[in-house]
Amino acid sequence: MRFDIMTLFPEMIRQTMSYSIVGRACEKRLIQIYAHDIRDYSEDKHRRVDDTPCGGGKGMLMSVPPIDRCYQYVKSLSDTGNCRTVYMSPQGRVLNQKVVRELAGYDRLIILCGHYEGVDRRAVELICDDEISVGDYVLTGGELAACILVDSVSRLIKGVLSDEECHEKESFSDGILEYPQYTRPVTYKGMSVPEVLLSGDHRKIEEWRREAAYKLTEKNRPDLLK
Ligand code: SAM
Repeated sequence: MRFDIMTLFPEMIRQTMSYSIVGRACEKRLIQIYAHDIRDYSEDKHRRVDDTPCGGGKGMLMSVPPIDRCYQYVKSLSDTGNCRTVYMSPQGRVLNQKVVRELAGYDRLIILCGHYEGVDRRAVELICDDEISVGDYVLTGGELAACILVDSVSRLIKGVLSDEECHEKESFSDGILEYPQYTRPVTYKGMSVPEVLLSGDHRKIEEWRREAAYKLTEKNRPDLLK
């Protein structure tokens, strides 16, 4: 799968995406992540990409022309038809595992990151098919949000996770949270691993996990059980 991220801070994306599982997946070419600097498409001699909002108001908005030029170039880099262009935005539909699965069905995602007060609305209307939020709060820019999207989608790409890291029994895979997990030491500061997990009885362990997952979901995310 190919990700093209349009941003004013490409190094933020390159750095963040170079670690651990996602970094290794890039090295193995299971996924490709490219960060494109929107500033390179400014025609201003000072490489400006923003302007004041029409009608007044605080802050600066990213203007349409550099975004559109960047997009036209990025789009031309690959001719895959199964492509979706997403604007990271607090005004978008909220990312969850269902949306992640949906986006993992594309061969290519082009992602626009806003900054400052956001982007001129016409840029979104002109180039984007979708708007995705990572939650009901406001970040300073779309870069961290884009990294969250790329990370969560990448985990679902075949070969990115090893068998041990498999995503099939994780939180949200069957609608509720994952059961609590423990490792050694068996006792720490008076807290012990539940005995059943040391019993070797797989049927009992399975039953305990199912019940513990349900209880945890009821406590932390009752909305998932509705
Ligand atoms: N003025 C905008 C508003 O009130 O909706 C907020 C702009 S925000 C300060 C700057 C950029 O950060 C946005 O253009 C977007 O790309 C990104 N951003 C902020 N919060 C986000 C969120 N919850 N999810 C995804 N992207 C977000």
